Amino acid sequence: MKVVLLGAPGCGKGTQASKIAEEYNLPHISTGDIFRENISGKTELGLKVKAIIDSGNLCPDDVTCDLVKDRLSKPDCQNGYLLDGFPRNLVQARALEDFAKPDVVIDIDVDLDLIEKRITGRRSCPKCGGSFHIDFLSNDKMCPTCGGDLTIRKDDTPEVIKERLTVYKNSTAPLIDFYKSNGVLKVVDGNNTIDAVFEQIKKVLG
Ligand code: ADP
Ligand code: ZN
Repeated sequence: MKVVLLGAPGCGKGTQASKIAEEYNLPHISTGDIFRENISGKTELGLKVKAIIDSGNLCPDDVTCDLVKDRLSKPDCQNGYLLDGFPRNLVQARALEDFAKPDVVIDIDVDLDLIEKRITGRRSCPKCGGSFHIDFLSNDKMCPTCGGDLTIRKDDTPEVIKERLTVYKNSTAPLIDFYKSNGVLKVVDGNNTIDAVFEQIKKVLG
């Protein structure tokens, strides 16, 4: 099963992606995580994209498409994948049609005014890649999964969130119509608890 998750920043994509990957035994491929690993490892790719990501803009399509194409060619993706954060615009979506066309695209639909609250309360763990909301943490400094120090992502500040939402509206939201006309789109209501959203996703995926 080849699954793509769509949704605005802060819609809960990453959280749902981890749950889907576990339940359906699919490799979870998050372009955001891959870029952040490269930034913290100071690789050539990381150095190239750091300023772009910190400003809330999209990394170049050629770099991003090559990265995903390469990752999807690995043995663990031969029976399917779960893509989180790719495609993010029509150029990327068309490229994906050529190298690994998705069977189902799930759009997690959230009210855009909920987004800011969700993202500004987000704390991330650089050690295990987890991300959590302060409303659900008993200690907002320590990762509940691995004990690592929680941080606020550089692109989770109010100004950068604004830019990311603009990028989402202009570049990513048009993918909803693209996949609707391909007949693979399923929409779930993301204005709900983590478990309730996951239940809807399981219904969709069967
Ligand atoms: P979000 O919380 O918005 O879902 P991600 O972790 O998916 O954030 O992505 C963080 C940043 O990484 C994006 O704002 C963008 O700069 C970069 N990025 C991630 N995926 C892509 C992509 N498919 N194309 C271009 N840039 C990307
Ligand atoms: Zn952790």
